Amino acid sequence: MIDCGEGTQSQMRKYKIGFSRINHIFISHLHGDHIFGLIGLISTMVLLGREKELHLYSHSELRKFLSAQLQFLYSNELPFKISYHPLNFKKEQKIFDDEKVTVYSFPLSHRIPTCGFRFEEKPALPNLLPEKIEEFRIPIRDRQRIKEGGDFETSDGRIIYHAELTKKKHQPRSFAFCSDTKYDESYIESILNVDLLYHEATFASDNKDLAQTTYHSTGEDAARIALQANVGKLIIGHFSARYKDYTPILNEAQDIFPDTLAISEGDVIQVNKKKA
Ligand SMILES: [Zn+2]
Ligand SMILES: [Zn+2]
Repeated sequence: MIDCGEGTQSQMRKYKIGFSRINHIFISHLHGDHIFGLIGLISTMVLLGREKELHLYSHSELRKFLSAQLQFLYSNELPFKISYHPLNFKKEQKIFDDEKVTVYSFPLSHRIPTCGFRFEEKPALPNLLPEKIEEFRIPIRDRQRIKEGGDFETSDGRIIYHAELTKKKHQPRSFAFCSDTKYDESYIESILNVDLLYHEATFASDNKDLAQTTYHSTGEDAARIALQANVGKLIIGHFSARYKDYTPILNEAQDIFPDTLAISEGDVIQVNKKKA
């Protein structure tokens, strides 16, 4: 999960996202609209009998904010462990790595220390074709080796090559998330060529000055970043409540970066490999 605003757990219920699926929460910065959901979410996890460790990646001060509340509610005795991972607000940093994905944080430009996040999928091993397994009677003990690039020798000495036996999975994809930030070209290199970019666009250009003073972006800013970073697709959000209709923000972004989408509550967006 990335950021945890006030309505998070009710939205998770509405869209049927299981609480036990959340093991890592990446918090971009400590403004209320990005953290007020945490205590509610953690309390619900306690009620549901969670035992699994929960990992929080954030500014080190989050620990102070949360443990005061956890102390009040649970005397700091939770049935599961919370691990705090402090972010680096000076330079890009690898913060998570498993067999499927690597996550990096990188500094943005907001009123308080803020990080964006980049998720890079790892290449998956190809699938063995079931009809080939049957045709050549490939024993289970050989299958992993073939997936990893090996060939297969039949009992009568024929070599069947890896490429004939396997089907490639999709190309590894990447997604970057730029939460609150003003226009700043310094983080472009951290989001270069990602397949999908989420970038905040709080204002339209008629409020350019307000965007500057509050360290937020306009639709135009987000699109200029997307264009220079050569991303596949841009989604924008975090629209100011002053806009009853975000069309002006979307329009100005699309004028610069046509493949832009405005996000609404509950949207599900597939990360597709960008065209070369
Ligand atoms: Zn903020
Ligand atoms: Zn915000």
